[in-house]
Amino acid sequence: MEIKRLNERFAKAEATEVLEYFLKEYGKEAALSSSLGAEDQVLTDMIFKINKESNIFTLDTGRLHPETYDVMDATNLKYGVKLNVFFPDKTKVEELYQTQGINGHFESIENRKRCCNIRKIEPLKRALKPLKVWITGLRASQSITRVDMPVVEWDENFQVIKVNPLINWSEEDVWDYIKKNSVPYNKLHDKGFPSIGCAPCTRAIKEGEDIRAGRWWWENPEHKECGLHAK
Ligand code: SF4
Repeated sequence: MEIKRLNERFAKAEATEVLEYFLKEYGKEAALSSSLGAEDQVLTDMIFKINKESNIFTLDTGRLHPETYDVMDATNLKYGVKLNVFFPDKTKVEELYQTQGINGHFESIENRKRCCNIRKIEPLKRALKPLKVWITGLRASQSITRVDMPVVEWDENFQVIKVNPLINWSEEDVWDYIKKNSVPYNKLHDKGFPSIGCAPCTRAIKEGEDIRAGRWWWENPEHKECGLHAK
């Protein structure tokens, strides 16, 4: 099977080697979905160093932190590009507002999932539809559910080959790369945000707290997924 063969080939490969292969083989049908967080910024730097024409997209949920827009701007400026941005369907956002208000996602898990679905999942589906390869900045040490994640896998949910070039990287590797290569990064990372999502739904974590504790902090841990990287 193709995935098995690719995975054997790239299991211990350098991230740039993995990226070079998929960008060359699949061209515009391969894309990085960037949250503009530290890992995705590393990949953005590597990808644009390989090919400035590469496809990198981000999802603007309409609820991002101002610092996230700053890093989007800084990235476009540094590499002389315009990242592709996918926005939610405006009619659905208007309906969402009419049914559950602007901050209704705090009121129930169903409301929160409805908001994530309209603002993130539907635009992600749209972005992935023409693609064959989805490149992500996932790292195994970010979550217990990612420990066994391979470099290359088939994503049944979105029907694409999912490529995780940084899966074996540590947090230290990420920050070493960012510093050595002067990569623009989200200033919220300096304020204790390990992962950065929508402004109302992410917060800084304290030392020793789980890396995902800053996401949907008012919910029980078992509900903390939005379907982006569902298994
Ligand atoms: S993370 Fe929060 S604001 Fe963002 S889409 Fe999900 S529920 Fe809505």
